[in-house]
Amino acid sequence: MRQIMFSKPYRAGHEESYLAEVLASTVWHGDGEFTKRATTWLTELTGAPSALLTTSGTHALELAAVVLDLGPGDEVIVPTFTFPSTATAIALRGATPVFVDVVPETLNLDVEAAAAAVTERTRAIFVVHYGGVAADLDRLTELAAAHDLAIVEDNAHGIGAYYDGRHLGTFGTFGAQSWHDTKNFTCGEGGALLINDPELLERAEIVREKGTNRSLFLRGQVDKYTWVDQGSSFLPSELQSAVLMAQFDCYTEIQQKRHAVWDGYAAGLRDWATEHGVTLMTVPERRQHPAHLYYLLLPTRADQQAFIAGLAAEEIVAPFHYQPLHDSPAGKQLGRTPFPCDVAGDRAHRLVRLPLHANLTEADVDRVVSVATAYRPGSR
Ligand SMILES: *Cc1c(COP(=O)(O)O)cnc(C)c1O
Repeated sequence: MRQIMFSKPYRAGHEESYLAEVLASTVWHGDGEFTKRATTWLTELTGAPSALLTTSGTHALELAAVVLDLGPGDEVIVPTFTFPSTATAIALRGATPVFVDVVPETLNLDVEAAAAAVTERTRAIFVVHYGGVAADLDRLTELAAAHDLAIVEDNAHGIGAYYDGRHLGTFGTFGAQSWHDTKNFTCGEGGALLINDPELLERAEIVREKGTNRSLFLRGQVDKYTWVDQGSSFLPSELQSAVLMAQFDCYTEIQQKRHAVWDGYAAGLRDWATEHGVTLMTVPERRQHPAHLYYLLLPTRADQQAFIAGLAAEEIVAPFHYQPLHDSPAGKQLGRTPFPCDVAGDRAHRLVRLPLHANLTEADVDRVVSVATAYRPGSR
């Protein structure tokens, strides 16, 4: 029996020829032709005024944290149900991540809890759009405006995701994207920062280029380049950008394949879920999701483990995540958690993610559905 992998990078087509173009050229470092093409493509898709490709989604978040001048004594509100990068970008600046719970409908930041967690030290909110399903951006934008807080969207899941027709990652000051090979579009490791405040673009370019004004120099805006600010090296090589551009070329194909899998799960699991007290992922109104992930919630933690084992016995890999960050070793040491995070704590022990990638066939989806629907909660 062939194993159905949880995630597998999809070869869109032009990866090798684009890589060969770079290797035949003299520009292997960053910010060459492929980086420019991929950046333009990204701003056209998202409508963001500008974007910078980075070496990872984590580095995009770190770049945002540097440009916002986050530092010791500052607090930043973060949902506890997320990947560690959302919080580590804050902690690396010496600022304090303040963890709050998520809401049941979307597993996104509970904005009421965030409002209650604001103190005079709060500087920003790092919000996650879990599965590319938008958080409550109306309430969040109001809250941020009322307290003069920056919003950084961790939009690692949400390329091709919209709220009221507007692309996610363009609502906050910054939006961070990831091109890790578990994401919809990949170059192995990579990311991008969408920069929605034009006044911060120049500083972001400098921080990304080792604290130098090399980007200005290359555009002829200064006549020599030098060290002008704090910085690091967050720019990807042309090799990565070439692979990324090949994936962007096949945007429609990749998204169609992923949506077919997502829709196949939703239709195939519906009756079984209703009958057996299983909750399926839902997408509330006004939100267009990108088929990044598909999850379901089993009734109990024991069901979660037994369901995963049942799939594994049929060579289907289905993991769970996230360990809520407020309850993690580093989260306890580096963060602060003003209120209980019961929703995240409960869902983490009931959630299972099903395989979702563009390589899956209709037969694969049928096989996952038939093994999943054979499971009876509480029947161990
Ligand atoms: C993948 C991911 C990241 C990190 O992206 P990398 O490119 O792997 O650094 C950050 N946040 C979330 C929610 C993610 O899923």
